[in-house]
Amino acid sequence: MELVEEGPFRYRIDPHEGMRVPGIVFASRELLADAEQSLEQVVHVAALPGIVAASYAMPDIHWGYGFPIGGVAATDADDGGVVSPGGVGFDISCGVRLLAADCDGEALRPALAEIMDGLDRAIPRGAGPGGVWRPDGAGELERLLAEGSRFAVERGYGEERDLLRCEDGGAVADADATQVGQRARERGLVQVGSLGSANHFLEVQQVSDVYDDTTAAAFGLAPGQVCVMIHCGSRGLGHQICTDHVRLMDRAMARYGITVPDRQLACTPVDSPEGRAYLGAMAAAANYGRANRQLLSDAAREVFRRATGARLSLVYDVSHNLAKIETHEVDGVRRQLCVHRKGATRAFPPGHPELPEDIREFGQPVLIPGTLGTASYALAGVAGGGAFYSTCHGAGRTMSRHQAARSITGSQLRARLRQAGIAARPKSWRGLTEETPEAYKDVDAVVAVSEGAGLCRRIARLVPLGVVKG
Ligand code: 5GP
Ligand code: MN
Ligand code: MN
Repeated sequence: MELVEEGPFRYRIDPHEGMRVPGIVFASRELLADAEQSLEQVVHVAALPGIVAASYAMPDIHWGYGFPIGGVAATDADDGGVVSPGGVGFDISCGVRLLAADCDGEALRPALAEIMDGLDRAIPRGAGPGGVWRPDGAGELERLLAEGSRFAVERGYGEERDLLRCEDGGAVADADATQVGQRARERGLVQVGSLGSANHFLEVQQVSDVYDDTTAAAFGLAPGQVCVMIHCGSRGLGHQICTDHVRLMDRAMARYGITVPDRQLACTPVDSPEGRAYLGAMAAAANYGRANRQLLSDAAREVFRRATGARLSLVYDVSHNLAKIETHEVDGVRRQLCVHRKGATRAFPPGHPELPEDIREFGQPVLIPGTLGTASYALAGVAGGGAFYSTCHGAGRTMSRHQAARSITGSQLRARLRQAGIAARPKSWRGLTEETPEAYKDVDAVVAVSEGAGLCRRIARLVPLGVVKG
């Protein structure tokens, strides 16, 4: 793939092969070492009807279903632009939340094993059913799909203040549960308040570095502080919704005269019955994902309270797999866009009206998980931004799960984590090898490049003390 260097950590792919706009890749040459396949996906996305400005890739880009993971694409919602479920991904509204404890790592150390054992028991995980809350039938599931974290808090799982620190106040508008199929509901009903498997986790972390004291303090973070990071999404419900709506769109595309270079990019206009149906179902799944993280926070709070009396306050909750109708200025004109962020995090600039009032002047908190053995980050959105105010979402995989599992044995990984002082509570050690740190890019490099490219800035770095994985 020919990449034209446009600026620091910014490359352009000039339009060819049916691209309607260029590709813009935020990365370094090193981070793009094995990215040929995913760059091909950036090219394919650039062919979507109604795409505006560019098909963007973040520094943690890797191959995904249709869109690359680490892809951002906006389409003109008022002028025939499309929405594509592949631009959101199977784990709708997968995201990250960070809670800050009112204690530091030193104080926590003596209680760490007890806390990890408590979390091990309290956090439902794995691929199957099981969750901290079983809605009592369709009525409650309906409310959860409409009201997300707000409903969880109303039912006693959390505090009102939590909602102030959630993207969209804890629930996206325009959820349409009538577009959520029977199978999706069945899968969803039995997994409310669960982590899932693979790269989803609940981690106890400690702040290792602070890059901006004032902003960190406003976010509620200080050097040495203990935090809890939760990464999970909408489980089987979101997966089923994606499957169902990709199928519907695949059949409908021809009727709109749409052809795409890859079937996995199935799409229809935002303003079409299929487009609206998907967006309604997607919003319902987003609310499920948000409630999910709210419920797991509550379970973690209880474990901390019992073990040490420590309290956990929410820093922020943000998703990295979502399509949103947003207003952006493009070439001096304000337009309604459908912004797909898949494995990419929204990063609104300082002063943005949608940010919580108490931290608005600092920019949106952005939460970046690294790996179970390395660092994670809290970042903030910056003025100017890029890619419709988006940045990276993680380190990004370099190895397949299979490759990773072959690179290290369960007992080797266990010994390594023990030596590093990281208390792991996996469901299985063999399963955990799929998540070995070498399977991912260097998160420090990804974050440095994201900052260097002008997408965000670093606020704090966190290191793991203990990790709960599916
Ligand atoms: P994804 O949303 O693409 O599934 O994963 C997001 C990111 O989470 C990955 O790119 C990886 O950097 C990070 N990640 C996966 N597993 C872990 C973990 O156990 N702990 C931490 N801190 N990060 C992880
Ligand atoms: Mn996920
Ligand atoms: Mn995720």
